Amino acid sequence: MVNYDVIVVGAGSMGMAAGYYLSLTGKKVLLLDSHNPPHDKGSHHGETRIIRHAYGEGEEYVPLALKAQELWHELEKETGSRFFLNTGVLNVGKETSSSIKNIISSSKRFSIPIEIMSADEIEDRWPGITVPSDFIGCYEPTSGVLRCEECIEAYRELAKLNGATILTNSRVTSITAKAGSVEVSTDSDSFTAHSLILTAGAWSNQLLSMLDLELPLNPVRKTFAWFDVDEEIYGENFFPAFAFDTPNGLYYGFPSIQKAGLKVGRHDGGATINPDKAMTRFGEELGDQEDLTQFLTSFMPTTENLMYGKTCTYTLTPDEDFIVDLHPKYPNIAIAAGFSGHGFKFSSVIGKILSELIINRRTNENIDHFAIERFK
Ligand SMILES: Cc1cc2nc3c(=O)[nH]c(=O)nc-3n(C[C@H](O)[C@H](O)[C@H](O)COP(=O)(O)OP(=O)(O)OC[C@H]3O[C@@H](n4cnc5c(N)ncnc54)[C@H](O)[C@@H]3O)c2cc1C
Repeated sequence: MVNYDVIVVGAGSMGMAAGYYLSLTGKKVLLLDSHNPPHDKGSHHGETRIIRHAYGEGEEYVPLALKAQELWHELEKETGSRFFLNTGVLNVGKETSSSIKNIISSSKRFSIPIEIMSADEIEDRWPGITVPSDFIGCYEPTSGVLRCEECIEAYRELAKLNGATILTNSRVTSITAKAGSVEVSTDSDSFTAHSLILTAGAWSNQLLSMLDLELPLNPVRKTFAWFDVDEEIYGENFFPAFAFDTPNGLYYGFPSIQKAGLKVGRHDGGATINPDKAMTRFGEELGDQEDLTQFLTSFMPTTENLMYGKTCTYTLTPDEDFIVDLHPKYPNIAIAAGFSGHGFKFSSVIGKILSELIINRRTNENIDHFAIERFK
């Protein structure tokens, strides 16, 4: 049986980044994934993810968002590729919206530039948007969009170059933890290691049940779609990424990037799924398309026809905060899960944190908010 220093189970957004940071330390690292990341079976497909720094979900995320942004720039330098598009992000909602309030307070506390705009100012600046007069906008010009699948590919290539072993189409079927070691099996092989990082997204609880742990994780079906648009209005050079807190729900989206169409999705809601069962495709559930078009009709009425849509999975925790911690019983096992539909932007810094946690049992970043203990 081949022995490693660290095995990473689940080489998606968080796991691949962790594998990359571990590969920099000279440790002997194995990454195992059921599929061939990046792939469209988990939570990281669909080409793009928003990165914002003045954070609507709470101020405790801001230092991590800023660190993550720095690490994405480092990845760009390292590879000579561009993963971040500085489109800016426009947040829109009522002044009383908790996300708008959090954005304004975190921008003040961390000196993050934002422009607070009235409904008229939003409409004057972006003629593709219509908003009710009691809404305001918070535009963050330094934020934007990450090319998510390309980020994972880049970490994969670099980790390999640094000597990590990456086995794809290798589903982990058993994990046994012993004092100071772990044994991990797939259908065809078994491996041992001193330590383990578990980053299995929607499948996390299946694996955690082998380690005497169950976390309150709820995988849900999400939809998003691309719409035909006038490039002069909604193209990436003019139009920002956006997040709208509306009376009907929370909607987010992206300008038309390389003429791909305007992409829009809904953040709240979604039905619980079994990640092992094939999900119904976009359009197969009642309301998939109508939900997005009613948002566009109200707020971006000059968008045109649906081009195509997709489905993806969020793994929600009850408070929608992440779980990043050591296993309560096995200090040689680190867990990162429950990214609740807003984790990708942080995957660079979470990967680094996981590599530090598993080697030093500690990290300098503040991850108190993500402790497992809060669910007791
Ligand atoms: C539609 C949509 C839009 C989103 N928009 C944003 C956004 O704008 N900004 C943002 O920051 N975040 C966004 N997110 C959230 C973000 O993409 C996720 O939080 C993040 O991808 C979760 O990463 P993960 O590593 O936990 O899961 P994944 O990336 O899915 O990785 C888990 C991996 O584990 C593997 N695995 C599972 N079981 C096993 C096993 N038994 N053996 C081996 N491997 C296994 C899987 O194959 C997979 O590759 C969005 C998510 C969705 C679905």
